[in-house]
Amino acid sequence: MALLSIVVPCYNEELTVDLFYEAVTEVVNKMDLDHEIIFVNDGSKDQTLNKMLALHNAHPSEVKVVDFSRNFGKEAALLAGLRHAKGDYVTVMDSDLQDPPAYLPRMLETMEKNGDDVVGTRRVTRAGEPKIRSWFARQFYKLINQWIEVEIVDGARDFRLMKRQVVDSILSLKEYSRFSKGLFVWVGYQTEYLEYENIERVAGETKWSFFKLFRYALDGIVEYTNVPLRLSEFAGGALTGIMTLELLVLLVMSLAGKAVSFNAVLLSAVLFFGGVILLAIGIVGEYLSKTYDEVKGRPQYIIKKYYE
Ligand code: UDP
Ligand code: MG
Repeated sequence: MALLSIVVPCYNEELTVDLFYEAVTEVVNKMDLDHEIIFVNDGSKDQTLNKMLALHNAHPSEVKVVDFSRNFGKEAALLAGLRHAKGDYVTVMDSDLQDPPAYLPRMLETMEKNGDDVVGTRRVTRAGEPKIRSWFARQFYKLINQWIEVEIVDGARDFRLMKRQVVDSILSLKEYSRFSKGLFVWVGYQTEYLEYENIERVAGETKWSFFKLFRYALDGIVEYTNVPLRLSEFAGGALTGIMTLELLVLLVMSLAGKAVSFNAVLLSAVLFFGGVILLAIGIVGEYLSKTYDEVKGRPQYIIKKYYE
């Protein structure tokens, strides 16, 4: 029988781990598949690990636990889970049941019927989310999709069913800072999306502050495009052109014997230049910091223990 691996990154999810296990096993036990659940404990500070270990001890062949030495972030947890997954099919799910397990049979069915390599899910509504967060999210998708070579679908969740080959391709990408929404589509393959309405988490609180999400969006843009870099080049080029013209005009005026207020022009020109240079340095710094991360070649996470 084929094996389905379910990868679940968890950070402070003591309230949801058991609920998740109940809900997901109820569905997959009825499917024509073997399954394994890989919980990744991303340095939780509550009882999450103990909840996971209780499940592992009760069902050792079904539940595996990867325990990180500290919080490394969801992307790292996802990567660790994918690396430990042995399934012919692999799915990634949040433990808060915002990714409805009831969709798994439908995803598999769709995959088999249409010969897809990936069946993803996308939310068509963002009900229950702060308005301002939805607005920023929509702008992000608009912006990034204008610039990058592959399309990041608005509202696409990380919740997706993938064939082994797709997972191997994702794991073959070696970059340090990982923006999974990008990596998932970057590898290509025949993909289909099932749509669903937003579901609020069963218990606990969201782990994403607005700032964390903003940072995440910025990472996505910097990692997948170099448009910001070109913007600064363009601005720099345009400014140099304008300033050359202005200097020529001033030269002509003073040659024609007209009085020009040199101080004002000089001061504003200097300030303007200063601003542009700072902006350009900032953008270069963004890329430099990414390069620095890659060059260091640090592991994305450290595993304290693997409970197989
Ligand atoms: N998560 C994680 N590490 C983190 C933050 C979040 O493993 O540093 C997990 C979290 O436990 C959950 C999933 O990522 O299973 C999605 O997080 P959350 O539900 O808080 O995000 P939201 O659904 O609000 O976007
Ligand atoms: Mg959630």
